[in-house]
Amino acid sequence: DPRIEGIAASIRVVPDFPKKGIMFQDITTLLLDPKTFKNTVDLFVERYLGKDISVVAGIEARGFIFGPPIALAIGAKFIPLRKPRKLPGEVISEKYVLEYGTDCLEMHVGAVQPGDRALVVDDLIATGGTLCAAMNLLERAGAEVVECACVIELPELKGREKLNGKPLYILVESR
Ligand code: IMP
Repeated sequence: DPRIEGIAASIRVVPDFPKKGIMFQDITTLLLDPKTFKNTVDLFVERYLGKDISVVAGIEARGFIFGPPIALAIGAKFIPLRKPRKLPGEVISEKYVLEYGTDCLEMHVGAVQPGDRALVVDDLIATGGTLCAAMNLLERAGAEVVECACVIELPELKGREKLNGKPLYILVESR
């Protein structure tokens, strides 16, 4: 698809952010060009429209940028999966392992129902731990995760292998 090239070119790579040795993939530069931002959302919408997806779950923080326009376009509800102590209602939590230490995602109880068909959205998959925690939250609440969708995959980190065979759709691979 000719749109992919423009999306890849619009992502800024920032060396040594947030710490030395990390090549940070910065999608804020993609958002600066409305056409490229729209192409990004459109590619996901074209894939998921008519697939009977009832919920789009966006992962804090950049899943909150791409998730809602996809949800609106396909007629699904949007739910935020947030870092600890941000959601005001009753939550369920899922811890996951990072390079150093652990992190956690939370979801409001009652946000999804058994039988909901979910799409999980984030900007990037690295080790896959974050998407895995997101899927666990949705499945614990009885939802079926149909697929995970990210703008960028870092294939060298083999995060895909952590998704227990769940399909992952990405637009751009980066090294
Ligand atoms: P994982 O859990 O190792 O797959 O890391 C993915 C999570 O970390 C996602 O929520 C990303 O937003 C974030 N992340 C990791 N590396 C980058 C990056 O280079 N750019 C933007 N986000 C990143």
